[in-house]
Amino acid sequence: MKDPNLNRLLSHGIILLGCILFGVSCICFGTDPLHPLSLLAGAVPFAGLAFSFFTVRCPCCGHTLPLRCLWTSYCPHCGEKLD
Ligand SMILES: [Zn+2]
Repeated sequence: MKDPNLNRLLSHGIILLGCILFGVSCICFGTDPLHPLSLLAGAVPFAGLAFSFFTVRCPCCGHTLPLRCLWTSYCPHCGEKLD
């Protein structure tokens, strides 16, 4: 996928899914001691963050785009239109 806005939405979904999985696994398996599935679910948001670091980039200049918004139409670095 080349569209950085779609990649941003996908990474937000991965992070949210990992947080939900971590919460559900903590509720189901308890936190003392932490279940291995909970540890695996806790690593999913970091994988989403790493995915966003490598894929949410401007196709023209290659700079990373901000992650805090859902959709950006222009690159804040070079001003090129992203759509
Ligand atoms: Zn750019």
